[in-house]
Amino acid sequence: MTQITGHTRFGGLLGSPVAHSLSPAMHNFSFEVLGIDAVYLAFDVGQEKLGQTVRVFRDLNTYGFNLTMPVKKKVMEYLDDISEAAQLIGAVNTVVNENGKLVGHNTDGVGYVACVRAHGFEPKGSEVTMFGAGGAACAAAVQLALEGAKALHLVSRRSRSWDAARDLADRISRRTSCAADLTDLEDTGSLRELIGKSSLLVNATSVGMAPHEDQSLIRDLSMLHPGLIVSDVIYNPRTTKLMRQAREAGLKSIGGLGMLLYQGAEAFRLWTGQQMPVEQVKEKFFT
Ligand code: NDP
Repeated sequence: MTQITGHTRFGGLLGSPVAHSLSPAMHNFSFEVLGIDAVYLAFDVGQEKLGQTVRVFRDLNTYGFNLTMPVKKKVMEYLDDISEAAQLIGAVNTVVNENGKLVGHNTDGVGYVACVRAHGFEPKGSEVTMFGAGGAACAAAVQLALEGAKALHLVSRRSRSWDAARDLADRISRRTSCAADLTDLEDTGSLRELIGKSSLLVNATSVGMAPHEDQSLIRDLSMLHPGLIVSDVIYNPRTTKLMRQAREAGLKSIGGLGMLLYQGAEAFRLWTGQQMPVEQVKEKFFT
């Protein structure tokens, strides 16, 4: 554990609940490995106390903080500047305190793209089919678009997320060079066609997450074609049913742990200007 001194800076995670988070372990370990005099703590803060907590974090000269549910959108009201990606995503998960100026970023999308890139997928010029339109989907979709994906096919059920999915597709098409469209999950003919054109299929819904490990949005394995890469943002379980289906079809599959690791690494880089020792973090906390 880092020796606390009169110079030690702090930062941390705001949200509720936060006690289960891996972020304190990842960041404190990385500070220690790199000899950085800083600590990272978790604070259970809901919407009501967010404004006053953010002011305290600004005034106490912290290096910054992360946000998790349910305050990733609300925090945007209290910041001085917000990155282009975070504006497009509509949520902030990382704030950097630049000498009292609070700048919001979203590192989930960067984390997602770093994860699939580490497995050999290059977004530039690609066509991608993605299930979901919640927080994880927005972040991954926006970053794929910003990094040059040619077309993004969002697939959502006609329920709570439908309007959000349509807004996301519009935003991406208007503000990036990627053409985004939206298809109903029940339209299996179109879904087959879209997956057929894509080199990456992403599950960014919670379907398949524990305790519902037996679920997948792919009901027909013949929708998966040779060369397709299948990625799931879910990290619990580490191997989802969708990933097992992909492996059964002889395809490469990528789980959500890498996104979790690399979103933290990007936040660490923004705060410290240094690379998180990701291989050591992976070995210590993710194996
Ligand atoms: P949200 O609640 O914001 O979004 C969930 C999405 O899944 C919504 O679009 C929802 O649609 C859709 N969905 C849920 N059930 C179904 C279903 N039966 N059929 C079709 N669509 C469905 O959650 P998040 O985006 O925050 O999280 C989604 C998953 O991603 C979770 O498992 C979470 O653990 C994981 N995650 C992983 C991260 C990582 O770093 N690897 C980071 C963040 C999240 P509807 O609105 O209609 O319910």
